[in-house]
Amino acid sequence: MAASLKSEELDSYRNVLRDLRSRLRGDLNQMTDEALRRNLAESSGNLSNVPLHMADVGTENYDQEFTLGLIENEQGTLDLINEALGRIEQGKYGSCSECGEPIAKQRLAALPYARHCIQCARKLENGA
Ligand SMILES: [Zn+2]
Repeated sequence: MAASLKSEELDSYRNVLRDLRSRLRGDLNQMTDEALRRNLAESSGNLSNVPLHMADVGTENYDQEFTLGLIENEQGTLDLINEALGRIEQGKYGSCSECGEPIAKQRLAALPYARHCIQCARKLENGA
C-alpha cells in the first residue's frame, strides 16, 4: 500500500532530506567558489601558475572537469531532494513515480530522494 508511511516516518524523511539539502548547498557553494577562483587565476595570466610539463596540464584539466562534474551531480541531487520534499507535501512520497507502487523502505532509507521503485530504476538505467 502506498499510504503505508506513517506521519512520523514522513517527518523523519523530511528531516533527512532537509539536512541533506543544506549540506549539499554548502558543498555546492564551496565548489563553485573554487572553480571560479581557478578560472580567474587562469584568465588573469598569472605566469607562476603556468605548468612546466604537459603532464601537469593534463592533471589540471582533469581536476577541473572532475570538479565541474561533481557540481553537476550535486545540482542534480539537489533537484531530486527538492522534488522529494514536494512529494511529501503532496502526500505522494514513497510511491514510484513510474508505476505508482510503493518504494521499499530499505531503498528510501538508503536513497531518501529516490523517485522510482527498484524495478523501475533498473529498467530506466538499462534505457528501457
Ligand atoms: Zn516503479
